[in-house]
Amino acid sequence: MSGVGPDRSGPAGAYWAALDEGALRFQRCRACGAAQLPAREECTTCLSPELGWETARGGARLISWVVYHRPYHEAFADRVPYNVAVVELQEGPRLISNILAPNESLRIEMPLRLELGESFGQTVPLFRPVAG
Ligand SMILES: [Zn+2]
Repeated sequence: MSGVGPDRSGPAGAYWAALDEGALRFQRCRACGAAQLPAREECTTCLSPELGWETARGGARLISWVVYHRPYHEAFADRVPYNVAVVELQEGPRLISNILAPNESLRIEMPLRLELGESFGQTVPLFRPVAG
């Protein structure tokens, strides 16, 4: 569906390609060690262009979220109410995702586990609360 697919230009292309191969990857600066998402041409901490890629181990925690009661895009109309969350990977980078749990069960700092899903034909990183 046009208008909802990811922008694959620039370094983001490698991010989406890795997801299609089953891995959530993030950038690690070879100069200062900072980890970051989304992918960029330079380190957001020290501006070095020397960036490598690492695969996320899958552990994360919930930083914040909102619940959409009106769809951001008409393509999401059948998903409301849905959450849009800020998730922090155990390695440090944060990303925007969805939590696979009832909206009313979400809690700040909740431990999460990466679970790859699919949205409009694109593999996407989703997260599910860790039981217990
Ligand atoms: Zn750096």
